[in-house]
Amino acid sequence: MKAAVFEQTGKLSVQDKPIPSLSLGDILIKVDLCGVCASDLAALNGDVTDYSPPVVMGHELAGVVADSRHSDVKVGERVTVNPMLSCGSCEYCHADLDKYCENIEGIGHDIDGGYADYMRMPKHGIDTGKLISVPQSISAEDLLFLEPLGCCLNAMRETIFDKSVAILGAGPIGLLFAQLTKNNGLQTFMLEPIDHRRGAAEKMGVEAAIDITEECIAALIETTNGGVDTVISATTNNQRAIDLAFKVARRGGCINFFGLAPAGQEIRVNLEHFHYTGHKLMASWAFSRWSLNESRRLLLEKELDFTLLLTDRYPIEQAVEAFKNARNRRGVKSVLTGA
Ligand SMILES: [Zn+2]
Ligand SMILES: [Zn+2]
Repeated sequence: MKAAVFEQTGKLSVQDKPIPSLSLGDILIKVDLCGVCASDLAALNGDVTDYSPPVVMGHELAGVVADSRHSDVKVGERVTVNPMLSCGSCEYCHADLDKYCENIEGIGHDIDGGYADYMRMPKHGIDTGKLISVPQSISAEDLLFLEPLGCCLNAMRETIFDKSVAILGAGPIGLLFAQLTKNNGLQTFMLEPIDHRRGAAEKMGVEAAIDITEECIAALIETTNGGVDTVISATTNNQRAIDLAFKVARRGGCINFFGLAPAGQEIRVNLEHFHYTGHKLMASWAFSRWSLNESRRLLLEKELDFTLLLTDRYPIEQAVEAFKNARNRRGVKSVLTGA
């Protein structure tokens, strides 16, 4: 089979690999689609360190069980995964904070993931509830968004909201946030420098999709009487994004730095100024079992529209091009397709 392997910083290569063999209790997933995630781009850049290369990347997958050596799983089931395999028994795991478990094995991070025709899901992951089975009525095109949507739902639960929200970045994550905030009745502004992505946000019916020029930002601050109640930064949190977030948040407003940051990026605040502006600073990342369940429910109920999100498909052989496409923000979501 073909697989896209993260070999080391700066090096992603397509390789011929044997189809994974199964031990008792494992299953084999035939991957239909697997989304290219910003965290994979960041790992390849050397901006994040929670990957153990060499590894087949890919954690936003939609597939079908092709072989099962687990008594609870049947061949033909449509599945995705909770890609964070954890011990299942520590305090964090009991509190649905698996991401802080000391024994994390990330699918597509530490063990081989979905940028391949086939992927092995180990028995341990199935026994700890990390295989997510869905009805056939959910298409692969929707299913691959279950994990990213789960990350957004986790952040939605943590963020402090009032009436208005500005989302920085109309990438796949920003556009998922926009649908959620709109559905929650929040006045939603999308801030995005790229035309076609603003266009996608407009089609989703946001209050306004705004360029990040000085005039546009000044106009936003004026129409919102001093800034928005909440900012969710769903872009790479470089200095420019950080400055923009502080600029458009009203006094007392909440800023959630959801996006990843370039290596070494810091936030520096004048503490006296920060004290008196009263900003609520926070960060949200990843998902919980609760939020993935909620995401599954929204997919089943067809609550969200993913058609505007999935724009570019590539076979595994063209994984490098797919990454290039995602990095250049050409479409919205780039995905790899299994054989
Ligand atoms: Zn992801
Ligand atoms: Zn644990």
